[in-house]
Amino acid sequence: MALLRSKKALMLYPLILSLFTTTIGLGIILKPKEGWTVWAGQAWEAFKGTTAMTAKPVNTPTSPTVEYRVDAELEVANSNIHGVASITVPNSPDDTLLFYLYPSTHKPIEIKQVLVNGGAVRFQATPDHLLVPVKAKGETANVQIQFSTPIPAAGTRLGQQNGVWSLTYWYPILGVRDKGAWIPRPHPHPFGDPFLMDLSSYQVRLKHPQDFVWFASGALVSSTIENGMAVSEWKADSLRSFALIGGSGWDVATWRSPEGVDVKIAVRNPRHLPELKTLAEAAVKTYTKRFGALAYPYYSVVEMPTGTVFAHEYPNLALFSQEIWNWTNGEHWIAHEIAHGWWFSSVGTHKALDPWLDEGLADYASLLYNEAKYGRDAYNEAIARYWTMFRDGKSNAPHSFGRSVNVQDESADQPYANFSNEADYYYLMYLRPALMYHDLRMSMGDPKFFDFLQQFYLKNRKSTVTRADLEESLSKVDPHALPRLKLWLDAPNKELIEHVKTRFTNP
Ligand SMILES: [Zn+2]
Repeated sequence: MALLRSKKALMLYPLILSLFTTTIGLGIILKPKEGWTVWAGQAWEAFKGTTAMTAKPVNTPTSPTVEYRVDAELEVANSNIHGVASITVPNSPDDTLLFYLYPSTHKPIEIKQVLVNGGAVRFQATPDHLLVPVKAKGETANVQIQFSTPIPAAGTRLGQQNGVWSLTYWYPILGVRDKGAWIPRPHPHPFGDPFLMDLSSYQVRLKHPQDFVWFASGALVSSTIENGMAVSEWKADSLRSFALIGGSGWDVATWRSPEGVDVKIAVRNPRHLPELKTLAEAAVKTYTKRFGALAYPYYSVVEMPTGTVFAHEYPNLALFSQEIWNWTNGEHWIAHEIAHGWWFSSVGTHKALDPWLDEGLADYASLLYNEAKYGRDAYNEAIARYWTMFRDGKSNAPHSFGRSVNVQDESADQPYANFSNEADYYYLMYLRPALMYHDLRMSMGDPKFFDFLQQFYLKNRKSTVTRADLEESLSKVDPHALPRLKLWLDAPNKELIEHVKTRFTNP
């Protein structure tokens, strides 16, 4: 007010008055058709939905800035990928570093030599693990591992089928720690994802045949020709692992989403291209709206040859086998795989420890895709089918569909290691948590439920979550819903069904 008492300041009154009338005038001219009040509400919702809560580390990874520089060559004639992985581990958590050697269906990774900070060391290698002594805990260790990985001629995760090379978990990967000790590599079963990794940065250089195209977890930074071979180089920060799918014979389409994500789809059979494009566009749009934008600016959805793994996910890559289109629920599984871009790539889990966490979210996301594309009735019908299978103890596993399970006393919050068959695993890790999210949605209402998922997603992008983070996000949005989440995660199956059956039979 002191300002306006001066004579000079009085000159400002006409200016203020004209600004005021201009604002009112613009307010009338630019008024949105739904009115300013509704617009302001929507803007606030949009603001809330795209703003993360204060981020904090959710757990302590082995080291937040582990760097991989891998220089390798794919030898097609010998079915082998070999090279040197140079892994820098700042603040080494132990005086011995443990690396997982994941390939398990063929021959193990062969370790030829290990240097630590430039000097050769005596290492121990088994088919599962590589143990490398480093100078001292707490110091930076640069570990150079010369490795050679045989690639089976098979449609396995690491394998070659019909000229398509699936290079996944193909190099030594630093182990994950818990309570001050290394967690041994999870023992693999013929189903699910027996994997543990922490986030790291990657620079990968690969020598390969010239006619290869690649779909990779990282961004391509260069591609040159050297002595008749192509050399491609990719980079990425904050990846759980670096996967590469290469070969020839794909039809490819790309587009940029409104959020700036370059989406690439690739099919073996050109007739599938329009259908996959429609599916992927709808899925990306739905998940971005429901959860938030992807954490990375690129994402590939790749059809693999017949006889490869049914459907599986890697950082920034969703893969499915060509024959999935012949399955009645193939669309569901492709949408499920695409959802792993949100729930595995962007917001990660220690898969082998909490498989229900990303699988439940990816599967529920696929139901949201179904709802967005085919309407609420289609969603309700899908939930009714899920509930009937769940109540009747029938599995939704792709290769054991409809098989009876015997899990009456089992809960959902279990690690991969507890399972011995695919039917039980899918029933408890996919079907039960997908129904949990539906039940939470019914009890919380859409605004709170999606606020919860968005807050959980946006807060935890590019980090690794546990159950505690899910509970924390739910508590902040709707603490009254927490007992329902705990019921679904912890109650013996028989008791859970008794508790919730009226909620599904009389929705
Ligand atoms: Zn999945």
